[in-house]
Amino acid sequence: MTSIAFIGLGNMGGPMAANLIRAGHSVTGFDLSPASCDQARNDGASIAGSTADAVRDAEVVVTMLPAGKHVLSVWTDILPSVKEGTLLIDCSTIDVESALKAHVMTREQGRNLLSLDAPVSGGVGGARGATLTFMAGGAKPAFDRAEPILSKMGKKVVHCGEAGAGQAAKICNNMILGISMIGVAEAFVLGEKLGLSHQALFDVASTSSGQCWSLTTYCPVPGPVPASPANNGYKPGFAAALMLKDLKLAQEAALGSGASTPLGAEAAQLYALFNNAGHEGDDFSGIINFIRGQKG
Ligand code: NAD
Repeated sequence: MTSIAFIGLGNMGGPMAANLIRAGHSVTGFDLSPASCDQARNDGASIAGSTADAVRDAEVVVTMLPAGKHVLSVWTDILPSVKEGTLLIDCSTIDVESALKAHVMTREQGRNLLSLDAPVSGGVGGARGATLTFMAGGAKPAFDRAEPILSKMGKKVVHCGEAGAGQAAKICNNMILGISMIGVAEAFVLGEKLGLSHQALFDVASTSSGQCWSLTTYCPVPGPVPASPANNGYKPGFAAALMLKDLKLAQEAALGSGASTPLGAEAAQLYALFNNAGHEGDDFSGIINFIRGQKG
């Protein structure tokens, strides 16, 4: 049993912490939201009065927070209070620069602290079912200590490289996802105009070179993939607001590193328009309705 502090018990962090408890670990949690704390208490966590109190006796600290500024603020608060040798893991999706800063802040403390950036793919369903994919960045000793803990919350844990590599993998993956969803949506909209049924296009593309996750697992039209959000009024799933967040992180990283990502930039613009039209809370595959409404 490992003593784990878990900070950020929201839609993702709450069920992830519950899976650690289910696996036999002792979890002390903290969240600014009383409702999230109540839920975690019901799941078997102890709730601390502050972030610093939560981490004092922990061997491992996990954070699952909205953005880089929250992570840096929480890590600034907790680093002076963690024990010698503590492993800190940030599972939030944040910008690469903030992730690197968190690693540096940890190293500057000395005291044999270890740090890992380990964002996830798989959404709320994956968090509940412990089927997340973790993409980790950090030194090998940090990864080796984290791997048995992370594997209780996910089905796959990949060591992507040194500090920041987990966040880099996450935004590259989600840039593929945003672009591919738009590509699949455009193909269905064009097929409709050409008199092609959704099922016919699906049957061909899902077994041809157009095959991809956005088509075969998350099909943006109702019918061919019964479990996709298109069959459920485009309820998330993965909200358009989070897709836009990740596409913006990819664009920030592209700008900072000098990478050319023209389709990533276009996808970010389209998702910004979709969000601004009041669809932040819709599943990101709902972009097909927005595309259908555009003039050709
Ligand atoms: P959420 O808003 O449900 O949860 C974040 C929690 O952090 C909230 O409960 C909030 O009260 C808490 N919080 C904020 N500042 C805090 C502080 N200073 N101290 C303590 N608690 C604080 O968000 P979420 O959906 O759980 O997402 C968390 C992270 O996971 C984000 O970075 C998101 O991009 C990423 N992510 C989300 C999904 C998804 O499908 N929801 C999928 C993959 C990755």
